[in-house]
Amino acid sequence: MDKIQKYDVQIVGGGLAGLSLALALGKNNIKTLLIDNLEDPNKTNKTDGRTTALMESSVNYLDNLGIWKNIKQNSCKISCMRIINIVPPNKISDEVIFESNKIGINALAYNIDNHILRTELCNEISKFKSIKHLFNSKCKNAIQKNDGWVVNTDKGKYSAKLTIGADGRSSTIRKCAGINFKKKDYNQSAIVFNINHTQNTNNTSTEFMYPEGAFTFVPMGKNKSAIVWVEQTDQVNKLILNNKLLKQKFIQKSQKMFGEIEILTKPKSFPLSKIIAETNISDKLCLIGEAHHGITPVAAQGLNLSLRDSAILAELIIKNKDDDFNKILISYNKKRLKDIKTRIIGTDIFHNFSRFSNPISIGIKSIATNILNRMPQAKNQLMKLGLSFPDGLPNMMRKNNKI
Ligand SMILES: Cc1cc2nc3c(=O)[nH]c(=O)nc-3n(C[C@H](O)[C@H](O)[C@H](O)COP(=O)(O)OP(=O)(O)OC[C@H]3O[C@@H](n4cnc5c(N)ncnc54)[C@H](O)[C@@H]3O)c2cc1C
Repeated sequence: MDKIQKYDVQIVGGGLAGLSLALALGKNNIKTLLIDNLEDPNKTNKTDGRTTALMESSVNYLDNLGIWKNIKQNSCKISCMRIINIVPPNKISDEVIFESNKIGINALAYNIDNHILRTELCNEISKFKSIKHLFNSKCKNAIQKNDGWVVNTDKGKYSAKLTIGADGRSSTIRKCAGINFKKKDYNQSAIVFNINHTQNTNNTSTEFMYPEGAFTFVPMGKNKSAIVWVEQTDQVNKLILNNKLLKQKFIQKSQKMFGEIEILTKPKSFPLSKIIAETNISDKLCLIGEAHHGITPVAAQGLNLSLRDSAILAELIIKNKDDDFNKILISYNKKRLKDIKTRIIGTDIFHNFSRFSNPISIGIKSIATNILNRMPQAKNQLMKLGLSFPDGLPNMMRKNNKI
């Protein structure tokens, strides 16, 4: 019979939520196992093609984890967000611009390539003997025992006092723990790729609100942007297979605002849905990131939300490591639910509202834009609200709190 290797904490899933949690725990000498079904990013140039707009609190977390200094130069500051309403068939109706300097902050977010972020997290993890990082390892199932869960992988069996499911929307850990979830399919997908263009981004993220979905340029540099282009899924399936059609439609939708363009990466598609599990905790087990909650990318909130799961859970474990882990999980559950619920409801409303094309919705969108433009204080308050957190931030997400 295989010998079962024991850890304090085992994390299934080496996405950005799982990696950041493993690093925070390992840095604090907590014996941690990370079961990651992906390859070592240093050995592959495979990338999921996505970038992430990280809010200041997420950047602080990465800085406190010791990695931001190495990747900062690869990020792009976003100091303005420009939302442009489009009415059918393809006409600009009005727009609103949110500027970070109007609320006294340097940036609304920093945009970074997910592959760079993953590589740096893996490299930092490799410096700590307290973390065992198993690449190319898939969790097959997990079985509950008296002293914790035993995880079966294609590489062996492991157990820990605490098991974390950070294994994304189709979480195996969630399934093995018998935790149900609700899913809402938007019947839309996002096409993602990077482009060069002749017009300067001026550190502005530009979001065209088309009735069929948002069409967004997120700056990656002066003349480079990450495109997140939302359409009905059947339309996406056609576009992704036809480069000529994709480029033609792209130029039309970008309203010729970005000059000459060159597509740099292979377009990839991501189906959009909202998903929420009925709970994020069970006996000696916890779900974080998209294993518990998945939202639409329209407001660039998903990973920021997952990093807050990671930081808050890490802080609770580190501060109370001699306590019963179930007690820690109850505190975690209490601290997270408000933030998660608010973001899920908020992004769902924003997503649905932005895609309605009937005359009443178009009218309401236009009135809302007008009000915001006439009342700068209301606009600034809205910006502050989007960047605030109902239950405050953990220390790990505040400036200069080295972990
Ligand atoms: C187009 C797009 C743009 C986005 N832009 C932004 C943005 O600008 N800002 C933002 O905050 N968020 C953004 N998001 C959301 C963000 O990308 C996700 O919220 C984030 O990646 C979720 O991280 P995660 O670690 O929870 O899950 P995942 O990234 O899904 O990681 C889960 C990991 O678990 C692994 N896994 C699964 N099953 C197993 C198993 N059985 N055994 C071992 N490993 C397993 C998977 O391979 C994966 O590596 C965007 C999302 C999309 C689709």
